[in-house]
Amino acid sequence: MELLELLTQTPSVPGRESRIRQVIADHLAEAKLVDEMHVDPLGSLLTIRKPRGAGAAQTAPQRVMLAAHMDQIGFLVSHIHGDGTLRVNPVGGFDPRNLFARKVRVCAASGDLMGVMNPGGKPIHISSPEERKKVPEINEFYIDLGMSGEQVGEQVKLGDMVVLDGPFHTVGDYVSSQCLDNRVGCWAQLRALEQLGDHACEIHAVWTVQEEVGLRGAVPASYRVQPDIAIACDTTLCCQTPGVPEEQRVSVAGGGVALHVMDSSAISDLGLIEEMEALAETHQIPVQRALLARGGQDGAAMQRARTGARMVAMACPIKHIHTVTEMAHRTDLAAYVALLTAFLQSL
Ligand SMILES: [Zn+2]
Repeated sequence: MELLELLTQTPSVPGRESRIRQVIADHLAEAKLVDEMHVDPLGSLLTIRKPRGAGAAQTAPQRVMLAAHMDQIGFLVSHIHGDGTLRVNPVGGFDPRNLFARKVRVCAASGDLMGVMNPGGKPIHISSPEERKKVPEINEFYIDLGMSGEQVGEQVKLGDMVVLDGPFHTVGDYVSSQCLDNRVGCWAQLRALEQLGDHACEIHAVWTVQEEVGLRGAVPASYRVQPDIAIACDTTLCCQTPGVPEEQRVSVAGGGVALHVMDSSAISDLGLIEEMEALAETHQIPVQRALLARGGQDGAAMQRARTGARMVAMACPIKHIHTVTEMAHRTDLAAYVALLTAFLQSL
């Protein structure tokens, strides 16, 4: 879990992915997991791992693309007030109800600054009953860095990245942290490459940028790779929480890795889902199907690149998604890596 913890504690929002990309690239290089590595103009990390073992002799191996988005939801500084307080623009989908009383990290060129985020307005003691009921808009939140306007002006620039500060913890059978969406997918790709033995397919493992603002990095990356088979490695909702009807739970925590039958961006290839389910049965890996009414993932871009690809979206169920208390079940994490590894080995 140390690698997953490191990935969740490395800030990288859409358009500012250089830090997480470096962590992933260093890990790939140290463990010699890939044969080629390069960064495309948008910032996605593209790698190639050639076939290994007996299958390596074939002339035209299947091209299998894995894609995990490495950005997390966050903010960019949009205004610096004279008193040093900051306003921010969200990059990714936040629920303002989860933003009260948050510690944040403002990533300035001179170094990271700790700050506190709250909506403008009065504390409960002096607010009216009407004021207490209102949920503020994101543009009503501000960041206090505890420094003078002059000090802030010297260090912070418009466009600097801001992330919520959410530590990594073990909670019962789960791990809990911010941005398990989608550091879990980034982690699963790394772990699968580590555990792979010989394989006949050519693996194009990609860590994409700017997914949280509309699958932007996956578009040119898939166009370049031109895969035969595409596997999106991401997370999905798990709404097994009080107040949500059972039919809206999407996935079951501890029920195994989820295969996304469909979401609002893409429909997975049914043949690939069935192949994965058969493999899961053979290897006794827990697996489940999930359908999501709204929301997309990089698989949508991959299946439509050039002349198209067969695509399946794998996802780890996440409770409290898009908060700093996201939770992933250990059974699902293990199943994710096991099924991805077995599938790559089977091609
Ligand atoms: Zn995601």
